[in-house]
Parts: sequence; C-alpha cells; structure tokens
Amino acid sequence: KLSNRLLTAVSYLPNGANFADIGSDHAYLPCYVCLSDPTAKAIAGEVNKGPYESAKATIHKYHLDERVEVRLGDGLEVLQDNEVNQIVIAGMGGSLIKTILENGKSKLSRVERIIAQPNVDARNVRRWFYENDYILTHEAILDENDHIYEVLVANKVSDSNPYSKEFMEKELLFGPFLLKKKSTVFKEKWTLEHQKLDRVIAQMRNASKPDYAKIELFEKELAWMEEVVK
Ligand code: SAM
Repeated sequence: KLSNRLLTAVSYLPNGANFADIGSDHAYLPCYVCLSDPTAKAIAGEVNKGPYESAKATIHKYHLDERVEVRLGDGLEVLQDNEVNQIVIAGMGGSLIKTILENGKSKLSRVERIIAQPNVDARNVRRWFYENDYILTHEAILDENDHIYEVLVANKVSDSNPYSKEFMEKELLFGPFLLKKKSTVFKEKWTLEHQKLDRVIAQMRNASKPDYAKIELFEKELAWMEEVVK
C-alpha cells in the first residue's frame, strides 16, 4: 500500500498514463500505478545508485520489468524528447523540483501534466508553472505522520489561469485553490509556518546589520499568514 501522500499524487494521473516518476527511490509509485492500471507504463528516474538498485528490485519483484523502466540520471535527463505524457516529482523540496523542471525544459514538449509534491517551498513550483505555461489546475493538502504535504497539479495550456492580478504573490505562497478552501490542515500548516517565520524575523532583527527590506517582506507574509488562519 502506498502512503496517502503518494496516493494523492497518483490520483491525478489519467488511466493509461505514460509517465515518468523522477526521484523514484524504491519505485513504489510507478509500480503501484502499473499494478492497478494494466494500461499504464512508466519510467522511474533516479540520480543515486542505491535508490536506483532498490527501484530495480521492486520492479522485478512485481514482474513489472516490461512496463516500468528504471534509469539512472539527473532529473529529466533520463528522458528522450517526447517520451512521456505526465511527470510526477514527489518528496523533494520545491526549489529542487523547480531546478529539475527548469533544467529539463527541453524534455517537456509532450508533457501534458506535471504532478509535484514539494515537501517545502511549494511557492517555487507554483511560480515555475506560472512562468512556463503550465496552468495550476488542482491542489491538495494532507496530514500524514505529523507532516503536512501539498500536492500540485498543472496542465499544459488549455485551462485558464487561477491567479488574480491583485493577489498573485499571496496566491503563489498559499496556493490559489488551497486558499479558497482553507481546510483544517491548511490552517494547521500556516499556524506552524507563522510561528517559524516569527522566530526567523526575531533573529533577523538581532543581527548586527539587519536586512530591513527582507524583514519588511517577511512581515508582510507574516500578516498574510495571520489573516488566512482566521
Ligand atoms: N519520490 C519518492 C517519494 O516521494 O516517496 C522518493 C522521495 S526521496 C525523499 C527523493 C529521491 O529523489 C531520492 O531517492 C533521491 O535519490 C532522488 N533525487 C534527488 N535529486 C534527484 C535528481 N536531481 N534527479 C533524480 N532523482 C533525484
């Protein structure tokens, strides 16, 4: 059984998906998808040898060698042009996900959907989507084993943009869909983030040369956080 975090991510794959799971570790995700959907196929990408070997072992164990291929390499470099229609990148920080997408741009020409599960800094991923013509279409937030996770889904073109001109920066931080819904988990997350940022600002003020511009920016974000958890 897959974690709820990864189950949420795969729930956004279509039937008959032809996808890559980048940073696949044990390849649990692509194996799960291919076992539950006999028409799906996948490429599992891994940059590290250990996880690459674990991925191979899982694929072999489930007799999925014909449908899940594991490749060793950095980010999207393991893909040929036009090879997959969807990409999943889960369980990493948002800035790493953003870097992987940015460095692999040339591999995205046929990629209709990107499903990202950033552990932190989801804003980086939202901004990358926005700047690269992937329209954010779904967001989920969930709590599992004392961590709060966000799942972001973006499609190439067709849909219309979920951001408002006026509140763009705020929506990039909180997620336009998550902000509309304000679920309990969402409020929990931003209560915690508020506490963290409050401490960061206090430290910044104590620095020998405080960076007042940054403090001001963070204070604006702190006020947003107060507002959204109300
Ligand atoms: N995707 C799985 C999940 O969400 O449970 C595994 C997450 S694990 C914390 C992150 C994995 O990404 C590790 O196995 C790591 O080796 C791999 N990784 C990190 N940077 C990568 C990169 N640039 N390209 C491919 N894989 C990468």
